[in-house]
Amino acid sequence: MTTTEGAAASRGASRVLVLNSGSSSLKYQLLDMRDRTRLASGLVERIGEETSRLVHTPQAGGGGESRERNGRIPDHDAALRAAAEELAADGLGLDSPELAAIGHRVVHGGLRFTEPTVITDEVLKEIERLVPVAPLHNPANITGIRTAQALRPDLPQVAVFDTAFHTTMPEYAARYAIDVETADAHRIRRYGFHGTSHAYVSRRTAELLDKAPEDVNVIVLHLGNGASASAVAGGRCVETSMGLTPLEGLVMGTRSGDIDPAVTFHLKRVAGMSADEIDVLLNKKSGLVGLCGDNDMREIRRRIDEGDERAALAFDIYVHRLKKYIGAYSAVLGRVDAVVFTAGVGENSAPVREAAIAGLEELGLAVDADLNAVRSGEPRLISPNYARVAVAVVPTDEELEIAGQTFALVDN
Ligand code: ADP
Repeated sequence: MTTTEGAAASRGASRVLVLNSGSSSLKYQLLDMRDRTRLASGLVERIGEETSRLVHTPQAGGGGESRERNGRIPDHDAALRAAAEELAADGLGLDSPELAAIGHRVVHGGLRFTEPTVITDEVLKEIERLVPVAPLHNPANITGIRTAQALRPDLPQVAVFDTAFHTTMPEYAARYAIDVETADAHRIRRYGFHGTSHAYVSRRTAELLDKAPEDVNVIVLHLGNGASASAVAGGRCVETSMGLTPLEGLVMGTRSGDIDPAVTFHLKRVAGMSADEIDVLLNKKSGLVGLCGDNDMREIRRRIDEGDERAALAFDIYVHRLKKYIGAYSAVLGRVDAVVFTAGVGENSAPVREAAIAGLEELGLAVDADLNAVRSGEPRLISPNYARVAVAVVPTDEELEIAGQTFALVDN
């Protein structure tokens, strides 16, 4: 333990600031880990543009009015300083001795980082070394870390990696069947993402079933704008749908998910597209948005209700892929105790849940229409009593999980 960690612990400081830095955005939450409450949260978007916007929401005592700032915020440093000012206006300044640590979401931890890690110069260098496998994500995370270090150099900063939960995948699940030397030279393998969410949700599902995590096998379907599935056996991830990058697997809001890799050669040879153009096509212009022009499931359902066939086909392709993964992961796990839906679509779209589980009675799966229709922010079962396998909805909370993992590391 470093002296700064010791100082935080000895003061009895219990607040953790969680930072999630994107290429042009910064999301933050301040939590008190004594009672796991959220003190404030906020989002700075369009950093570097004229139209930057900060929305800050004080949440002490059950949710205050949001405040907004508009106008150019040139860089992440200015964004974090603006967020710090908003927090200070609520009496939650980052100079407070109550602040125990800053927890950073870091997308790619490669094979090296299997646990949340206190950030040293050496750790930061290693995160930089992973930029070639996470060119869209790690640079922004690094900027966020540097910015926070400049603001509070005395405070422990902790990296919580999206890939960490998946490092328990067996080698036969993590390796692509390509030439081993080429793969190893370029660190090409399946890493998986959304790990913080998969870890949190699989644990909460065990609680919902009133069992220890070691005793349950769970299929987690994290369906947000990005989407991924994981198979978790006794608390350990054994398979997940995202790979070297978040592009593999399920149909997502704007990503294709699984395709024949030869599609990319075809696009290059026949359509004359460059690697960067194909990257943009598959990551930003595919998935639901590529299929029907919308990536918001609410809008897609509204269009289906009006008889729109493109929206209906997009929905069917999305659900078909989900079903394939539920079947595959049932086979991988052998025994399944629960299939659990989470994130924006998973938590809110009853039609997606119903359609994904429909026809899977042979796998012991069924959804109760009344339970499925209930809207709630609480973890809940939506399967009928007779079903052999539980189907559940468990809201994810990546910030709480990052704060919890961060605090566990510095509070000793
Ligand atoms: P992100 O991956 O950006 O964190 P979220 O987990 O917040 O995404 O999920 C965002 C998606 O959730 C939206 O694009 C939308 O498709 C879906 N969504 C949000 N609310 C609803 C709702 N009430 N009904 C159906 N889908 C919803």
